[in-house]
Amino acid sequence: MDSADPERVTRFVRQEVGRYLAGHPEDRYPATLVGELARLGALGATVPAEFGGGGWSRRQVAVLGYELGRAWQPLAGLVGTHLKLCRLVLEHGTPEQRGEWLGPMARGAAVFARAYHEQGLGDPAGLRTRAVRRGSVGVLSGRKNWVTNARDADRVLAVARSGASVVGVLVDPGRPGVTVGPDLPRPGMLGVSLAEVTFDDYEFDPEREVLGGWGHDLTGALRRHDVTSYAARAVGSADAVVEHALGFVRATLSERTPEARGAVRLRAGELVTRLAVMRAVWEALLEPAAPEAPFEPAAAAAEAPGRIDSATAKVFCTEALQEIVRAAAVLCGGAGYAAPDGVLGRHYRDALALVIVGAPNDVLLSRLGGQALGVG
Ligand SMILES: Cc1cc2nc3c(=O)[nH]c(=O)nc-3n(C[C@H](O)[C@H](O)[C@H](O)COP(=O)(O)OP(=O)(O)OC[C@H]3O[C@@H](n4cnc5c(N)ncnc54)[C@H](O)[C@@H]3O)c2cc1C
Repeated sequence: MDSADPERVTRFVRQEVGRYLAGHPEDRYPATLVGELARLGALGATVPAEFGGGGWSRRQVAVLGYELGRAWQPLAGLVGTHLKLCRLVLEHGTPEQRGEWLGPMARGAAVFARAYHEQGLGDPAGLRTRAVRRGSVGVLSGRKNWVTNARDADRVLAVARSGASVVGVLVDPGRPGVTVGPDLPRPGMLGVSLAEVTFDDYEFDPEREVLGGWGHDLTGALRRHDVTSYAARAVGSADAVVEHALGFVRATLSERTPEARGAVRLRAGELVTRLAVMRAVWEALLEPAAPEAPFEPAAAAAEAPGRIDSATAKVFCTEALQEIVRAAAVLCGGAGYAAPDGVLGRHYRDALALVIVGAPNDVLLSRLGGQALGVG
């Protein structure tokens, strides 16, 4: 692995991801891109240097999310999940687990996926997947409906209820008791697998293979889920879409009637205005935080009332992206829907997932509304 340099990663993503997509089917796992991102240190961005990672600042990690969102959302999803899991291992792993996993995770030798959500889950308290201990053996049973990168991950962190705690089991998907279902049909977010994962009496070592040791409770960490990366990905996608649409319009403007030119100018103005506000929201989210500070939306709001938190930014930016991809496609006419490069179509299809993943926007809005009304 090269020494991690955020700018080199940015250059690589800008130069190579588009080139890769032009030459490969969108629905194949991009092993070469993942390998190269690992070599450049991007998979160790949230791992401190003492464990072999880059120890990037919060802003640098967010910019990586922006760049990957600008280039290709599924890759952003894979990398974003892995980086969050690096942080979880760092903050919750035993010293042995940190020693065993953080180095390989930082190098991309062990890419992690997250098996947390279950249909309609809402809160970790409602988990149906169970981890129990039978003597010296742990047993995991349950089903996770959507796991990004389930097919190609080296380890899957499976979140399960165990008595009063919520535990994370470091699952080896190659061992008996794990079934990764077929790739789920979907309009976008292709390339990286998305599948149901079933644990059928999967046996594990309860001391060594539970994050933080047997019984270590992750409820608080899961409830404090930081959604900054989804806002970053939305701004990146919007930037790419607007750049693409304006490029097309500029190239075709002279062929249009004066009336059409006027209308197109107005629409272009709307696009750049929306994008500028999205960027401002994202900047506001990143600016006041000390670079390495863990993000605690509630605490931050108490310190600086009116400050934007990650939930607000996620909702605003991912909703604004829906409007931008639609407006950009309409502005380009037929070429906005069907074009040889497929760029707008791909961003359009991938954008919807951002409203749902992380935490659905409606869930975040309901929480924010509850806080504003003082009703929990
Ligand atoms: C592309 C993709 C990748 C994913 N990758 C992963 C992954 O790697 N690992 C993983 O664990 N999961 C993953 N998921 C799952 C994802 O996290 C969930 O789909 C998401 O959290 C929504 O949960 P749900 O589908 O159960 O929807 P539900 O909870 O059933 O919610 C559906 C809708 O009901 C409404 N609603 C529900 N509850 C509330 C509430 N409290 N307040 C207001 N409105 C509410 C909202 O409109 C919401 O959008 C992925 C999903 C997708 C689509």
